[in-house]
Amino acid sequence: MNGKITLIQGDITRQETEAIVNAANSSLMGGGGVDGAIHRAGGSAILEECRKIVDRQGRCPTGQAVMTTGGNLKAKYVIHTVGPVWKDGSHGEDVLLANAYRNSLQTAVQNGLQTIAFPSISTGAYRFPLERAARIALQTVRDFLQETKQLEEVRFVLFSQKDLEVYQKEYNQLAIGY
Ligand code: ADP
Repeated sequence: MNGKITLIQGDITRQETEAIVNAANSSLMGGGGVDGAIHRAGGSAILEECRKIVDRQGRCPTGQAVMTTGGNLKAKYVIHTVGPVWKDGSHGEDVLLANAYRNSLQTAVQNGLQTIAFPSISTGAYRFPLERAARIALQTVRDFLQETKQLEEVRFVLFSQKDLEVYQKEYNQLAIGY
């Protein structure tokens, strides 16, 4: 059996999946949006580990992912990935967004995890068009779940009702679950 994709409206900082994904920036030093919310809810242990990672290996390039503790969160781990800033679609944005999802999933699998929750990467401050981002996110996760049996659940946690509806529409168009 392949793992399942679930879509919910909610706050990613409250999820009980083994890992939650942070839409970070390359500095890994926190920021606004979901990044700020995760650091606020998880406490300083997350930033301390981010700092050590940057000292060791430098900034996190766009499309890559690193993992830290979840600190005070219910999730044991935070996987920090850096999505692309949308310019006009001709600067590799689609591939970089797919890489961010795939490398986050790969990080979870390499660490033996079975459940992971994603926010809608790059569609806030980074301005990636929502429908296009949703399609790439869902396609990338679907393809990954077909190749890798270890994951049980990949959950998308959409902050607004509108975001949830767009993800549901793309999910139905991709005929996932049929
Ligand atoms: P990016 O810089 O990658 O665009 P943002 O944090 O600006 O990241 O936005 C990404 C998405 O995360 C947006 O849809 C935003 O509404 C959403 N978001 C913000 N806070 C939360 C939260 N606590 N839980 C889930 N999603 C959130």
